Amino acid sequence: MNVFKAVKENVTPMDAARFYGIKINRRGMCSCPFHNDKNPSMKIDAKIGGGFYCFGCQEAGDVIDLVAKLRGVGKYEAAKILAGDFDITYEDSCGKSVTEISEEEKERIKKRQDDKEFAERKRDLCQLILKVMSEMREEKFLAEERAMKVLEDDETYIWVINRLDRIEDDYEYILDHTDAKLKGVIDDIEKGVMAYAGEFIEIRNRSKRAS
Ligand SMILES: [Zn+2]
Repeated sequence: MNVFKAVKENVTPMDAARFYGIKINRRGMCSCPFHNDKNPSMKIDAKIGGGFYCFGCQEAGDVIDLVAKLRGVGKYEAAKILAGDFDITYEDSCGKSVTEISEEEKERIKKRQDDKEFAERKRDLCQLILKVMSEMREEKFLAEERAMKVLEDDETYIWVINRLDRIEDDYEYILDHTDAKLKGVIDDIEKGVMAYAGEFIEIRNRSKRAS
């Protein structure tokens, strides 16, 4: 069945008129969209194969003519629009079954595709980030390891990193506590710091002489 026949046998003029926004009263009359109509003067049929007729401007036709005139398109285009909007399957000139897709359905399909593509793009980007980040961390780790090997031979460096935390803790302890509290422990702290300071000077001199 070709598109014209398929549409005419499936859609009433009234269904089409309503679908495209025409208000129809109980007597099947509406204001004519094709002339400046103050009182409803267009009759629209509610039956399959029916038509429309305007008592004002004499515009008339079947369901396809109605949509062609409303949309300002040819009959073939109008029939395809109706087939799409009313989900009507027809046969093309080669006898192949065709299901027209309406603009709204096309948009929904496109949105689904866009969403899917975006999700894939995001997934790929996250995978790339994780891969690059992991390689960068690995590189950083190896670089630090290489540097540490050089520094391991540096006696002063090793001494400093082993004691810096402790001396920093001592300093924080002093800042965080009241004089009353510190009075009991200041001797110990002082003894420790003096020992560090002495060792530090000694070790620095030794490495200066060595270099
Ligand atoms: Zn009219």
